Amino acid sequence: MILNFTYNFREYGIKSIDNKATILAKTVEHALTTQMLTGVIDEREIFLKQLEDLPHIDKVWLSRGHKVIEMYGEGLNNEVPQDEIDKKVLKTGKEIKVIDEKLFSNSTYRITIPYKATSSGEINCLNCHSNAKEGDTLGAITITIPVDDSKQKGISTVLNTTAIALVLIFTIAFLINYLISPFLKLFVSIKKVMNNANEGDYSQRVLDINNKDAKEVSTWINTLLNKLETTLIDIDKNISIFLSSKTHENSDPLINVQETVSRLSSVYKFRKTIEHDDNLDTIYKRLAHVIKARINIENFNIQEAYTRTGEAKNVYIGNKEYCNKNVQCRADKTNQIVDSTVFENICISCEDKNTNYLCIPYSISNELDLIISFFAKDKEEIEKIKYNIPFINDYIDAAKSVIITNKLMNILEKNARTDALTGLYNRKHLEDQLPKIVSQSNRAKIPYGVLMIDIDFFKKINDTYGHDIGDKAIQIVAQTLNENTRNSDTIIRYGGEEFIVLLHNCDEASVVSVAEKIRTAFMKKNIPVTPSNTINKTLSIGACVFPKDSIDLKECIKNADIALYEAKNSGRNKTVIFEKSMIKENN
Ligand code: GH3
Ligand code: MG
Ligand code: MG
Repeated sequence: MILNFTYNFREYGIKSIDNKATILAKTVEHALTTQMLTGVIDEREIFLKQLEDLPHIDKVWLSRGHKVIEMYGEGLNNEVPQDEIDKKVLKTGKEIKVIDEKLFSNSTYRITIPYKATSSGEINCLNCHSNAKEGDTLGAITITIPVDDSKQKGISTVLNTTAIALVLIFTIAFLINYLISPFLKLFVSIKKVMNNANEGDYSQRVLDINNKDAKEVSTWINTLLNKLETTLIDIDKNISIFLSSKTHENSDPLINVQETVSRLSSVYKFRKTIEHDDNLDTIYKRLAHVIKARINIENFNIQEAYTRTGEAKNVYIGNKEYCNKNVQCRADKTNQIVDSTVFENICISCEDKNTNYLCIPYSISNELDLIISFFAKDKEEIEKIKYNIPFINDYIDAAKSVIITNKLMNILEKNARTDALTGLYNRKHLEDQLPKIVSQSNRAKIPYGVLMIDIDFFKKINDTYGHDIGDKAIQIVAQTLNENTRNSDTIIRYGGEEFIVLLHNCDEASVVSVAEKIRTAFMKKNIPVTPSNTINKTLSIGACVFPKDSIDLKECIKNADIALYEAKNSGRNKTVIFEKSMIKENN
């Protein structure tokens, strides 16, 4: 701005001196012409001297052209060209302006204008200058003007402007510093804090800045960060207790909370879902499904291991069975994780020596463990599973109580359907099973043999040896029935010492032979009545065939009872097959 100003100011100064000098030169030209006219041209020296005495005019001189010198000589004051500029103007007839600028000494402005011969106007130059023609340069007028005054003014103006500009710049700089600097500092501090927060470090705080508005903003941000930090840590701590411990991969508490909530939510959904599942099979399938989905591995088996009995059974098989059932599972026995990548072929139960395995025991209750065995060809896959163990633990933890509840429900249900003395099914089970047996029989055209069995003269045992011996006799009947029937048959303790056997896929010929097999087998059973004595008892059996004798199974049971009545009446210790005529007889 100052340079521009200096330049313009100089241009303006030069222009104004130039105007002044041009006017002055022209005035001298006209004055000389007038002096020529009035005939006082010889007195021009006085005029020129007076001019030089005027302030702001340095020198004024005239130089004659060669035609004037030819006619009138060089004049009194040696009016010859003083320098090259004079000569040039005389030669070319064109004015020349020169500024001699010096920074530390006097500067001058010089103008040299041509004085030309003219015949038009008030005077005819050619009258006196007969050797000249129209337009010839007769002479030159030179005026030099000191420009120091305007240079001085220019310099002082520039200096003043510079001073004002500097004052202005410093004032603005001060104002900027005073007004904006707190906000700049605040911005830099917020940027730093937010950058840290973005990387998970919420512990940094915005600087306390000495400005009301900036202070307010920094206080808000800091309060927000405080809340965020304490809340996030608190939430994560409180929620994490519901999950297996696992150090977060991320150092950002916000991401950690999100991860924890998402883990908790999927575990909660899993638990809510299995709570409504009908049976353990479905629960184990769902558990297998979430394990597959979470760690993306297919090949694993889940087995139930009963700590008290040492029994174990597979409840989920991924690809195939790897374990020898006759060898106890090492994970079950030691209650430790069994890892073949740490010690090759560590478990002798595993029959595939080329596979890597990781077997993890989970205690579900005092009596039940779940063993999850993962199998993989690569050791890396086993490593991946190990990394995911905490996630699997979460699902197992969530499933634990549901598995126990299901087990208890199964026990309760089994108890409700089982007779405690013999371990056989009771009447309730029969009633529940009847519709199923009927529809199965109808669909597959499978006949059922129905046996109604009663101990002969049972009261006598009770009366003679007491109820305990009577109970023992009932248990021996149950044992005989189990020994002489197939797994597909259903044995029921129907009443005190009455039993029903439903023989699966059994026609009329077979029903009698099975009944006889039972009857004769029981006859041979020794019932201990004292430590040294045993007795033998007999059975009476009524038999019929479903659906041959009746399409109603309940009716068939009644018919078998009628046949049993017939067996009792006709001497006991025998099998009687139902005949329709028996109904009339009974009636
Ligand atoms: P029958 O040859 O005609 O069948 O003569 P019985 O003496 O066996 O007569 P019945 O079948 O009517 O006998 C039923 C008896 O069985 C009545 C009851 O005291 C006895 N009883 C029923 N339930 C039990 C039980 O759980 N334990 C014992 N010890 N006795 C029972
Ligand atoms: Mg009886
Ligand atoms: Mg009876």
